[in-house]
Amino acid sequence: MKYVLATGNKNKVKEIKEILNGKADVVTMKELGIDVDVEETGTTFAENSLIKARAICSLTGLPAIADDSGLEVDYLNGAPGVYSARFAGLEHDDEANRQKLLRELSGVPDEKRTAHFVTVISVCYPDGNFIQTEGKTYGKITHEYRGEGGFGYDCLFLSDDLGVTFGEATPEQKNSVSHRSRALKELAKRI
Ligand code: IMP
Repeated sequence: MKYVLATGNKNKVKEIKEILNGKADVVTMKELGIDVDVEETGTTFAENSLIKARAICSLTGLPAIADDSGLEVDYLNGAPGVYSARFAGLEHDDEANRQKLLRELSGVPDEKRTAHFVTVISVCYPDGNFIQTEGKTYGKITHEYRGEGGFGYDCLFLSDDLGVTFGEATPEQKNSVSHRSRALKELAKRI
């Protein structure tokens, strides 16, 4: 079956295609000549990914795959959560978001800096049915930047699995334990 990916992010497209390889025939919105930005009006990752998948499914008539991700910090009661991309106000200002996170955790000891990344993936079918999978990866927020790789909060996230930050890890190492790859691997079993 042919699926359309409700994302324009090249890295995500590559990872999704790799993990679903052989399971699903995947096309991007760009390949279909569609350029829309669906507003994320939900309050949970599940709601937001479903909003995006539904919108692209009804626009294209094809089953659509969408994801929504973020960072949940225990000391901040799960913040920034669904607001991860706009934690400091402006959408996708990674540097301002990281600075705000460090400020909010200033003076907080290591053992209280636990956090996890979450991804929820929704697949919506033209008949209205949908499936959702979730992936999580656990770690701690560092006190300073470590590593140059990745994006978003990567250089502040010390992975329990890897023993280094996602900013210090190679893309392959990060992908082997990431929230996104875990949600995708679960999805590959279910479609
Ligand atoms: P998205 O839903 O995948 O676009 O993620 C929303 C926001 O969550 C991003 O803008 C980042 O701030 C944060 N985020 C999600 N996944 C990651 C990750 O793998 N590393 C670092 N930050 C992430």
